[in-house]
Parts: sequence; C-alpha cells; structure tokens
Amino acid sequence: MSIEPDISPSPDTPAPIEAKVSPMMEQYHEIKAANPGLLLFYRMGDFYELFFEDAEIAARALGITLTKRGKHKGQDIPMCGVPVERSDDYLHRLIALGHRVAVCEQTEDPAAARARKSVVRRDVVRLITPGTLTEDTLLDARANNYLLAIARARASAGADRIGLAWIDISTAEFIVTECAPAELAATLARINPNEAIVTDALYSDPELGPLLRELPAVTPLTRDVFDSATAERRLCDYFAVATMDGLSAMSRLEATAAAACVTYIDRTQLGKKPPLSPPSREATGSTMAIDPATRANLELTRTLSGERRGSLLDAIDCTVTAAGSRLLAQRLAAPLTDVEQIAQRLDAVAALLPDPGLREALRATLRAAPDMSRALARLSVGRGGPRDLAALRDGLLAADQALAQLGALEVPPKEIQTAMAALRRPSRDLAQEFSRALADDLPLMKRDGGFVREGYHDALDETRKLRDDSRLIVAAMQARYADDCGVKGLKIRHNNVLGYFVEVTAQHGDKLMAPPLNLTFIHRQTLAGQTRFTTAELGEIEAKIANAGDRALGLELEIFERLVALVQAATDDLRAAAHGFAALDVTLALAKLAVDDNYVRPEVDGSLSFAIEGGRHPVVEQALRRDGQPFIANACDLSPGPGQQSGQIWLITGPNMAGKSTFLRQNALIALLAQIGSFVPASRARIGIVDRLFSRVGAADDLARGRSTFMVEMVETAVILNQASERALVILDEIGRGTATFDGLSIAWAAIEHLHESNRCRSLFATHYHELTALSAKLPRLFNATVRVKEWHGDVVFLHEVLPGSADRSYGIQVAKLAGLPPSVITRAKSVLAKLEAQDRGQSARALAEDLPLFAVTARAAAEPSPPSEAERLIEALKALHPDELSPREALDALYALKAKLGKA
Ligand code: ADP
Ligand code: MG
Repeated sequence: MSIEPDISPSPDTPAPIEAKVSPMMEQYHEIKAANPGLLLFYRMGDFYELFFEDAEIAARALGITLTKRGKHKGQDIPMCGVPVERSDDYLHRLIALGHRVAVCEQTEDPAAARARKSVVRRDVVRLITPGTLTEDTLLDARANNYLLAIARARASAGADRIGLAWIDISTAEFIVTECAPAELAATLARINPNEAIVTDALYSDPELGPLLRELPAVTPLTRDVFDSATAERRLCDYFAVATMDGLSAMSRLEATAAAACVTYIDRTQLGKKPPLSPPSREATGSTMAIDPATRANLELTRTLSGERRGSLLDAIDCTVTAAGSRLLAQRLAAPLTDVEQIAQRLDAVAALLPDPGLREALRATLRAAPDMSRALARLSVGRGGPRDLAALRDGLLAADQALAQLGALEVPPKEIQTAMAALRRPSRDLAQEFSRALADDLPLMKRDGGFVREGYHDALDETRKLRDDSRLIVAAMQARYADDCGVKGLKIRHNNVLGYFVEVTAQHGDKLMAPPLNLTFIHRQTLAGQTRFTTAELGEIEAKIANAGDRALGLELEIFERLVALVQAATDDLRAAAHGFAALDVTLALAKLAVDDNYVRPEVDGSLSFAIEGGRHPVVEQALRRDGQPFIANACDLSPGPGQQSGQIWLITGPNMAGKSTFLRQNALIALLAQIGSFVPASRARIGIVDRLFSRVGAADDLARGRSTFMVEMVETAVILNQASERALVILDEIGRGTATFDGLSIAWAAIEHLHESNRCRSLFATHYHELTALSAKLPRLFNATVRVKEWHGDVVFLHEVLPGSADRSYGIQVAKLAGLPPSVITRAKSVLAKLEAQDRGQSARALAEDLPLFAVTARAAAEPSPPSEAERLIEALKALHPDELSPREALDALYALKAKLGKA
C-alpha cells in the first residue's frame, strides 16, 4: 500500500465549508455506524487516525495529543493518530483497558482514487477485541486469553441456570459448563476471562448485572446471538458438521453460550474461522469451588496488591515454557475433586522424582520447544509468518527428542503415557518437509521473502539464479563501461527513482555526453558532484532483475501457502502435541518444586480427613529462606475424631505477629496444592477431598473498596455460613474485628456455633478474642490451639509454634513496645489493662458459655420456613416469568405449567 499524501485540497480533507459534510467524513461515519461500540482506527497514509469521541477516549487512554482536523457541521473535529508502525503498542494498551478496536485500511492505491477524483476506498479488515487476539505482541505468553459467553435459562423461582462457554482462540481451547446463579461469581473468578459477551437482559439484571459489569471487558449483545433455537445450527456451521452430537455432549443452555461465542468470533474475525477444538464439557462439581474473595485472599495468582510476584502461582511456577505456565495457572484456578484424576497427576510427578538427570534433560528439551499452539492459531487465521512454520518444525523435533528421553522411564504412569501419545501424533513427514523447505535465517513477514531453503524448489532456485546472475552481469557491465570510457571511477548504482544508472564524477560527465560515447550513454541527471546516465542495455537488465525478484517472491509465497495447508491438515495432531508438551512441562515443574522445596506426596481420598504434619506455607517459606531464616513447621488435624461424623474446628488464639494468619493460609494452600495434583509443603498430609474452599479476613486486613470494610467482612461471612457444606474447608481470620469489641466478640461467637452445628465443615478460626476459647467446653468438635510466644525480660519472642491450648492473653502491649511506642504510653497502657483484667471478662465469658442455650436449637427453628401455600407458589411462578425473554413456544409451555399448578391446588 503506498502512502496517501496528506495535501489539501485532496478529497480526503474535510471541506472547510460549514455544515457541508466532506466525502471523507461521509465515508468515516458510514464505517463507524457499521461498527458500534468499537474505536475506529481509520487509516490515513502512515497513520491510523481516530476522530470525534473515539479520539477523545484514545487520547486520554494513551496520553497522546488531541488535535483538530477540519470541521464537521460547523464544529471542530477532534482527532488523534498513531503511527501504523508502532500501532501494536497502542493497540495493546487500548485492549488491556478493555476497549475494542475496528481496524480500517485503505483498500486501493490513493493514486487510483485521485484518478477517480474520489475518496480512497476503505474497509474494516479486522475487529480487535480483548478476547479474540492471536498476536504474540498483544498476548501475555504465560496466561490464557479467554472470550466468555454467558447465557441464562429462566425457570421457576430459584432454579435459574447459567450457561457458560469460553474460548481461547490463540490455543483453540473451547469449554462449556453450567452453574447456578449463586455460583456465578466463583465460576467467573476461576475462568478469569479477558472479554465477556452477555445478553442485554443479563447485563441489566438487577442481581447478576453488577457482577457482570465488573468484568474487564463486557459487551451486551442482542438476542439473536444468544438464540437457543439457532444455536445448534450455528455451531454445526462453524465446525462444518451435520450434527454436534458426534463432537460433544452439551446441554441446550451450554450450546446457546457456545453458539454465542462462535458467532462473535465470526463477526470479529470477519468470516475467517480460527480452528477450535470441539467444546469440551466441564462437569458441574468437578473442580473445587473457590469464590473471588477467597482467591484474592489466598493470593493464588496475584498478591493483594495485584502483582504476580509473591503469589502462590509465582512460588510454584517452575515451568520452562509459556504453554506450561498457562496450563499450571489453569490447574491452579481449578483444583480437581476427583480422587482418581488427582492420583494420576501425583503418580506422574512421583515417577519423575528419582532421576534428576532425566528431569534436567527433558526440561532443556522443552525450553527449546517453541509455543506451538499460538503459532498454529496465527497460521490458521492467515496472520502467520515463516517463523511460525519454523516453530512447528522445531516443536516436532523437540517432540522426538523428548520421546527418546522419556524412553528411560520403564513404566511411564498414565498421565505421562498420554502426553507421549500426544507427542507421537503429528506425522514426522511434516517436520522433514519443513526442515527441507525453510532456510536457516527467517524473516518475520512472508512478504520479505528469502525464507525458502536453496535446493528445495527447482523453479525457485532458477529464478533466484537469474536474479543473482543479473547482478553479476551488472558488475561485469560496470567493468566494461569503465574500460570503454576510460573512466576508472565509473559506477553502476541503483535507487528507487532512477532504477539502475551509470554514475561518474562531474569532471568526466562531459566526456560521456560527447560523441561517440553519447550514442551509448543517455544523460539523466546532473548533481553537484556527479553526473548520471542510463543505457538501453541497463534498462533491459533492470527489467529482468525486477521480474526475477517478483517471480521468486511469488514462488515463495506459493510454497508458503502449500506448507500452511499441510499444517492445517494436521492441526488436531499438532495441537495435541502442543498440549502434550504443556502437560509434561507442568509435571516436570511440580517434580522440581517437590525436590527443591522438600514437598511430600499427599494422600488424597474421599474421607473427611485433614491431617497435616510438619506443614509449611509455600510462599512465606521461600521468602524466609531468601533471608536465611527458617520456617517453623506446624501440624494441623481437622479430621473427625473417634466416633465423630464431621470435621473439627480449630480456634487459634495468640498475639499479633505470632503466625496465626500464616498457619491458616498454609493449610488452605496445602489442600489446594494437593488437589491440583502437586506434592505439598509438609512432612505428611492426608486430605479428604475439599469441594469448596472459603477464606475470609477480618476487615482491618482488607483494603477498602468503597463499601464499609465491616460491611464487606459481614457480607463475605454470610456467604460462608449460608453455603459451606460438610466437604468445605473454611478459613476465618479474625472475623468480627471490624467493629466494637463486644459486637465483634458476639458475632464471632455466633459464627463459630453456626459452623459447628449447621455447616459442620472442617474449619480454622483465628481470633484475638481469647474469650472464645471458653466455647470448647460446650462444642465437642471445637479444639483450642495457640501460637506460642515467650516472654523474655518483658519482651515478647515469637516462636511460631502452634500447640494445643489457648493464649493466656493478647500480648498487645508487648507487641506495641516492639513497635516503638513511647515508654510512657506503654506504662500507662499496662496499668489500664490491670484495672480491666480485675473485672475478669474471661470469667464472665466462661459463665456465658454455660448459660446460653446452644445456638442450633433456636437457629434451626427460625431458619426453617413453613412450606409455601398454593397461592404463594403461583405468585412465585408468575414473578419468575419474563415475557420479553420467552419464545412463543416457551410462553405456551409456561402457561400450561401455571395451569397445572392451579390444578393441584
Ligand atoms: P498473625 O496473623 O498472628 O498476626 P502472621 O501470620 O501475619 O501473624 O505472621 C507474622 C509474621 O511472622 C509473618 O510475616 C512471618 O514472617 C512470620 N511467621 C509466621 N509464621 C511463621 C512460621 N511458622 N515460621 C517462621 N516465621 C513465621
Ligand atoms: Mg493475622
């Protein structure tokens, strides 16, 4: 594409006349209207320009200057632009902020437009949205990039279902699942999409809307995209099959969400169909449910301040490939609940432990293996280059090497066998073909040429020879001309304006312009120091060279397309191999972690056990080690005691800084690591599957987010008390701290009783209200533990040892002294404390525990509502109907259902 000159008055310049709309602005508005909700990158020469509101948004987001260009309807047109050459960088920043961009290119040579006296033709060639990227420059290599579609099926009160489908088009993963509206928050947190599409109705739903609008980039779309009646057909069209039954089993709701995904991809890729794996269904309950607050709180993939460094993922990520890193992050986001599957992963890690030499050799092989999935995705949407082909070649060579190395395992466990089978899948002819076809040094773009190896293609070799020979001929010609003219310094040069020309210094110019030499040399240009000529012979050679060059490039592009076609035919196999690498990388990484950090294999089973010996915090331990400090290991046993049916609650008291929070979190993290199939930081661990993990921290530790922190704390505690069932693991850290002492104590008191009597789940509860320890007298599965400290010469020494028993007091004053409070304040505080202790609050708490009837008796009675009357049921059913969202068929069904309800009354 040549450059469109920006000189007025070209037809592209907005007309200065007020109220008249220039042809360019007319074109602009037309294209803009066809792409609502997207920033329009409008190509003008070497720049993408943005106008009007788009310009204002982009200028603010990118920190670039907002200018004006002409007038539209009498008003200045705000404008800003980004150079095409550096547009990737700007795109990246806009996409990261959740914007979507339509890229509009010039689709003809501006000269042609000038000849027509018309505005240059332009067209949108691509929509770039956060969830549909393929370029390495726009993607984070170590994270998946998901587009998520969310659909809802309405049912009678409380029984609504949510269907979710998510796709990473850069790796072709395609997954569907269903959940209840109450589980949506946890599911969204697990998927962590980069972009979401939802129905208009969901977007503005009073309950779910706020949750959805919090997602990074979310677009409400019209009903047709989420039409369940056409979903199957749209999916069949995409996968070019007659029925989806053979590809994947999906509920109708899941298919609706899946179809929305492919329709959106169709629209954004303008008809190009990136290959996708058939939707795989994630069974409900197959992963540990972890809500967003728990994820944030346990700092799984980001710390509370938002960095990867310091998170659990960062601490355990010893992968050497980007795909491996992505897979590890996926596994960490979705720990398994199936004992057998977990055992298989653990078997694989265990098999790699004994042979460090093998592990290092395999890791070296993997390190050299490129990111095949993403290269594959780029090639299949026509955005790939020669280096993507080379990536596949190198990947296949690495696969052979890895397979040879894995031969050292006598009986590979199932997980490794699966990876090996995947690595064997692609035909090795492909690698050979690529090795023969691709040169050693490859250009980034195919249009740069020069990527086909010499000796691969006869016609190409010949054409290249012609091109190169012509260059020799030019050199020979230069020698001959120099001889003929008797001008030693005569040169044949080339530039874009004159093409090939003969150049001599000015003093020899006259000689060539005089007979007889002027018969051969035709004067073209006189510069200050040189005179330039052409000859007829030179013109001929020039045409030949240009032709040969063009033809060589044409041949190379043909070869490229042929190689891409080979890749496309082998896509599924190549993708499987890429996944095999990733799985191998994760297993190797976990094995390395287990050895380096001294982890053990956990026993994971279907019981309600939770018995950890010598447990450590994976992240704190690493941090302390860097400072040369030891981490004090601690045991924890929440398993049901003899004769008990449910797990225990440990109530942990101890002064600030003793290590309570660390202890709580380390146990949650050990359960989580075990269920992703990793060894764990402990000397022994037996864990009965945890189906939900909850972790909450009292308000003072939390960052305020607009709402009162105490309110946040209570809302989150409510979720746990309402949802945790017997298989859950609950971590409550200083709940009740965010309010006045007696308030807080009372809330913590009641919450523990509820956990013990209603939820009956394995729990850890840290508190500085040592009054609560009195409860253990009454609640048989409540166990008191404390983090030991020693008082030494009036100072407190933290031992970080968790032992049975309760803290005798808070040591708050000693900690305050350590923190450097003035001695006078410390002395005064001590005397106030002595007065307060004389009132003996601890004693009164013990009395309270004995006096109060047990929580459950009253609570159960109040919590169980009487069954609804017929009239109430009908009203509920009517409330749940949303006429605007029903198809005629569904409306009719609903009418019958109502009638049936009445019939029963
Ligand atoms: P608390 O919640 O009781 O106030 P924390 O769990 O926040 O205490 O721990 C305070 C600090 O003590 C941590 O930052 C950590 O450096 C150190 N610490 C905690 N537990 C241990 C341990 N088991 N071994 C060594 N150091 C620990
Ligand atoms: Mg704490």
